[in-house]
Amino acid sequence: MTTSNPEPASGPSNFVRDIILDDLKTGKYQGRVHTRFPPEPNGYLHIGHAKSICLNFGLAAEFGGKTNLRFDDTNPCKEETEYVDSIIDNVHWLGFDWQDRLFYASDYFGQLYDWAVQLIQAGKAYVCDLTADEIRQYRGTPTEPGKESPYRNRGIAENLDLFARMKAGEFPDGTRTLRAKIDMASPNFNMRDPILYRILHAEHHRTGNEWCIYPMYDYAHGQSDSIEGITHSICTLEFEDHRPLYDWYIEAIGIYHPQQIEFDRLNLTYTLLSKRKLLTLVQDGHVRGWDDPRMPTLSGIRRRGYTPEALRNFCASIGLSKTNGSIELGRLEYFVREDLNKRAPRVMAVLRPLKVVIDNYPEGQVEEMEAINNPEDPAAGTRKVPFSKVLYIEQDDFREDPPKQFFRLSPGREVRLRYGYFITCTGVVKNASGEIAEVHCTYDPATRGGNAPPDGRKVKATIHWVSGSQASSGEVRLYDNLFLKEDPGQVEEGQDFTANLNPKSLEVLTDCKLESVLANVEPGARYQFERLGYFCVDADSAPGKPVFNRTVTLKDAWAKIEKRGKQPK
Ligand code: ATP
Ligand code: MG
Repeated sequence: MTTSNPEPASGPSNFVRDIILDDLKTGKYQGRVHTRFPPEPNGYLHIGHAKSICLNFGLAAEFGGKTNLRFDDTNPCKEETEYVDSIIDNVHWLGFDWQDRLFYASDYFGQLYDWAVQLIQAGKAYVCDLTADEIRQYRGTPTEPGKESPYRNRGIAENLDLFARMKAGEFPDGTRTLRAKIDMASPNFNMRDPILYRILHAEHHRTGNEWCIYPMYDYAHGQSDSIEGITHSICTLEFEDHRPLYDWYIEAIGIYHPQQIEFDRLNLTYTLLSKRKLLTLVQDGHVRGWDDPRMPTLSGIRRRGYTPEALRNFCASIGLSKTNGSIELGRLEYFVREDLNKRAPRVMAVLRPLKVVIDNYPEGQVEEMEAINNPEDPAAGTRKVPFSKVLYIEQDDFREDPPKQFFRLSPGREVRLRYGYFITCTGVVKNASGEIAEVHCTYDPATRGGNAPPDGRKVKATIHWVSGSQASSGEVRLYDNLFLKEDPGQVEEGQDFTANLNPKSLEVLTDCKLESVLANVEPGARYQFERLGYFCVDADSAPGKPVFNRTVTLKDAWAKIEKRGKQPK
């Protein structure tokens, strides 16, 4: 774990960065910048987390600081080591490294307990016997103050005794809590005597059965930041109202005080970014798993073929705000295309094959045509593509009865086969049920390589193809948005978000014809299939049996919107 973090992707400055610049100027933290990424290991990371990861690691890297990875594992009921492992793997994949600073909130359970005892001794915390329901009733409303718990003024000795017995396991779940004595009339609900500890006889993935009381997120988080010497504790906007409590605990205990700063959560159109909902999709079988390429998880989009560079550039481009909004999914896809365009070798693949026979091409002859691997990268060189009498083209590139605007192959029409020849359609052969079984053509030997003939004749279309006898076969999985609605969280009464699932989000094509170089490819390899999009070799591939995921199509709606001068949201 010694790889250094990548250069921060350049992007506009933002208010968190400005705060850090200011703190560096005033020497608030003696020139230190120390951030942390604090996932709860109760699910897989998603694109929203990528924004937080890039921000925390990116800012620290920019200012020569440090970033910790800290698992916020205070809720034993929902947490698993599978999630811990996937999170570690995905943060590394995204290109970031925490060196030897991998921490767990559970490492601090002992210290957090001692501090709770200290708060009791200072008269700032008490053991409350109200049930969860009663606590809710006593909480009040936004317009009315809450009611004080009848246990609020227990003596310190009694509180210490009860808290010790809570820890010793004397009481069943839910019968008692430890609460901070703050202000039941505060306009901020978080300050109305919040709970520090609850009783939970549950096994923890790291501490086993050592504890049967567990700290609440708010009590654990700031103190963990303090222990680790975090300078800027960057979190999402929903914690803005928790900041007074974050500050209260640290001041009441009297320890080093990091600064909490909030920014907006990433939301994407046609996408849900909530671990709870993503878990539902997995558990109820709406997708094939956490790493289904349709999932917005880092494992999913990675399997789909997105690159860490594209994600980092996207995150740098979206900036930060103090209000929650929604970013167009097309914007993310734009950055994926931009990155893949530079690095993905071009190949030809036919997804829905239609057989073409070149009647005047010599039987048994195979020519090696030269094809450019990547016009964006001269160093990528060229390759040989075999050409022969029987070829495959896309069914879509042929019409027996072409509509007006259709310029591709049709009877009597001449088109260019990319890197091949000009061919002219002379007729079709149909099967017993009247479907087109093969298209017959002639070729012009004067157009070798797809170049215009001496007479300067032009064609209106260039199509891709694969040579019949040398083609390999493979499976291609095409993906569409997982949800039909721009805001999939919006549902009719009586429905849940799964009602917005797109029933056509996955299409599997099992008889695709591929250039022979694609027969034996490594999972994770990325290609551009000419005219069709970017594709990535799936983990389900086997030698001679490649499986591809379509990462993204070539169509770029977002760039067009940008050119028209409309600022995408
Ligand atoms: P979810 O609501 O998806 O379950 P969470 O906030 O509960 O997410 P955590 O594991 O607690 O997930 O998040 C770890 C860090 O990532 C937190 O600092 C959180 O603020 C940040 N984060 C989570 N979701 C987003 C998002 N959509 N955009 C930006 N940051 C996010
Ligand atoms: Mg959370």
